[in-house]
Amino acid sequence: MKETLLSLKNVSKAFDDKTVLNSLDLDILDGEFITLLGPSGCGKTTLLRLMAGFEQPDTGAVSLSGHDITHAAPEHRPLNTVFQNYALFPHMSVYDNVAYGLKMEKRPRDEIRQRVDEVLAMVQLQDFARRKPHQLSGGQQQRVAIARAVVKRPQLLLLDEPLSALDYKLRRTMQVELKRLQRELGITFVFVTHDQEEALSMSDRVVVLKDGAIQQLGTPREIYERPANLFTARFVGETNLFPGYLTSVEDTGITLDILGLSRTLQKPGFTLRKGEQVNVLLRPEDIRVLAPEDEKGLAGRIVERNYKGSTLDSVIHLEDGTEVLASEFFDEDDPAFDYKLGEPVRVSWVDGWEWLLPVELEPVNNDAEEGLSTNA
Ligand code: ATP
Repeated sequence: MKETLLSLKNVSKAFDDKTVLNSLDLDILDGEFITLLGPSGCGKTTLLRLMAGFEQPDTGAVSLSGHDITHAAPEHRPLNTVFQNYALFPHMSVYDNVAYGLKMEKRPRDEIRQRVDEVLAMVQLQDFARRKPHQLSGGQQQRVAIARAVVKRPQLLLLDEPLSALDYKLRRTMQVELKRLQRELGITFVFVTHDQEEALSMSDRVVVLKDGAIQQLGTPREIYERPANLFTARFVGETNLFPGYLTSVEDTGITLDILGLSRTLQKPGFTLRKGEQVNVLLRPEDIRVLAPEDEKGLAGRIVERNYKGSTLDSVIHLEDGTEVLASEFFDEDDPAFDYKLGEPVRVSWVDGWEWLLPVELEPVNNDAEEGLSTNA
């Protein structure tokens, strides 16, 4: 069991009377890669700046290994921050950029050399030590920024959208490298991004934020497969939402009517009564496009088909107007893959793959949902 390294308790922050963080509690575990994920303006950077000591909370406390650091200055916290814009010293070589912090600490020359060489090897820049930042690519510059941040062996590394200035391919490479580096160093990483794919692929745990409040905290798999509310379900990946109606509730399970289709499922982790409505969620990759005569599915027509290499993605309009997204592994022997735009089809899914969320937790505006649910 990992110990808590950084703990935020009941932390609130407002700018000009606008609440940016709202009574937030968060425990970050020693050695984990945790990501703060949320849309623009949800408070990710503010939360990171509170951890770094660049901002003070209006209420609440921040502690590190059990010691209160709420009002400790940034330089007195055993952590370092990597920003999106690298912030390298332009006139210094790569080596000197990385060595700078250790020189300021007046470390012995041999120790500095050994530690700088070690981190430059880790970020695969040992052959670039004499270059100046302008002689490096964006990805290499970001690696220098990371080397400079880890050379002082902080307990915690805060990374504020460090990859967002990089092009797609380089970004993917750096994601893998950062994850490897974190594993090798054993340093706790707090990573900020608004890119859900990046969050899922890199993190041990993800914190989903909206309007300064945590919507869900969990492993990438929990967040994706068992979203706590509609906001998380929609922000992290794409989702299909069907209206469900409870036709019977037994000890063994429930029977739902989903647009005329009857399905028997396990009971979810919240109470449902016969006659109630429920939100039924299915990811596009759970959906199967079937022949129009297949009675197991909901009838509709294909309105869009995109070949994506490994998958064939379809948009189907059901007879009642509901739009369904389907993403299926491409199989050239399956006749359903030959259906053209406008052709009638049916859509279905494997029994038991539905994820249920209560309807009453959905507020009127439909994009600020709160709630929780766990399928039994
Ligand atoms: P983004 O992904 O766009 O960087 P974010 O989730 O990191 O967004 P924050 O930078 O934490 O969001 O900002 C949250 C809110 O607080 C925004 O509405 C922002 O305008 C506001 N804000 C942040 N810092 C300040 C400040 N120093 N003064 C006034 N308002 C601020």
